[in-house]
Amino acid sequence: MFSYRHAFHAGSHADILKHLVMIHLVEYLQEKPGALTIVDTHAGAGIYSLIDGFATVSKEADQGIYRLAQFAESNAVSPGIANYLECIRSENAANEINVYPGSPFILAHLLRTQDRLKLFELHPKEIDILRHNISQLKQSKQVDIYAEDSFARLKGLMPPPSRRGLVLIDPSYEDKQDYRYLETAIEEALHRFVTGCYAIWYPCLSRRESASLPDHMKKIAAAHKRSWLQVELRVENAPKEPRLQASGMFILNPPWTLEKQLSESLPILVKALGQDGGASFLLKSFEA
Ligand code: SAM
Repeated sequence: MFSYRHAFHAGSHADILKHLVMIHLVEYLQEKPGALTIVDTHAGAGIYSLIDGFATVSKEADQGIYRLAQFAESNAVSPGIANYLECIRSENAANEINVYPGSPFILAHLLRTQDRLKLFELHPKEIDILRHNISQLKQSKQVDIYAEDSFARLKGLMPPPSRRGLVLIDPSYEDKQDYRYLETAIEEALHRFVTGCYAIWYPCLSRRESASLPDHMKKIAAAHKRSWLQVELRVENAPKEPRLQASGMFILNPPWTLEKQLSESLPILVKALGQDGGASFLLKSFEA
């Protein structure tokens, strides 16, 4: 436990998919003026240097954000990708990407004055870095930070006072029990707040727990009569290589606009980020 540091993966293809979806969800929910509560159950450090530290060891951004940014310089991209790139660039000086904002920073910058952001982080080092990073933001007073196990705490925050909420669940799955904890946390949260929007990131791995996650989520959605959307992005198909080659998001109660945005963006992401002929995407949905 606690060997995972998100800095190693900042700006990877998995971050791109996750943050592209997340931005769309927030902006859709902000179309109505009512206050929005956003819970980021697995926050990480908030923002990451891409030019020193852990990110330079793994170099995942080279095949991720750098590749996409370069692609966008000479190719047309969808409005969703353009918007995502703008969010990343807004943390950086013009014409360079030296830092990659994680979900807490992207979400904090999207907050309107009536919105609140609740961040959970358990790692003893990451929580200190997160607190420091968030304290630098002008939105910091709208952000609550908890050094607690979010799987155990999520239900206690549901429903949010305004009954308008987005929950982003992005575990490291370092502990394979995370798959089980996730299902329990979702079940408990839905019992209290069935109309909330829940966005779950997952790695596409051959391990049984990972491969069965989407089906488990579909069963939970059916039991609660919820609509869902499943999206996966694969950037290569090299089964012998240990690196993460594909990831997905499962969204409960997705906005009706998400599927269209993703159907425009995914072919472009495959083209921009694909590393071999196995690059592909999956997009499925169900309306309850
Ligand atoms: N969401 C972040 C982003 O997109 O920038 C990345 C988060 S990273 C994948 C997962 C984080 O969750 C790690 O920093 C880890 O320490 C933290 N974590 C693991 N288990 C947790 C738990 N039960 N509650 C809260 N945080 C946890």
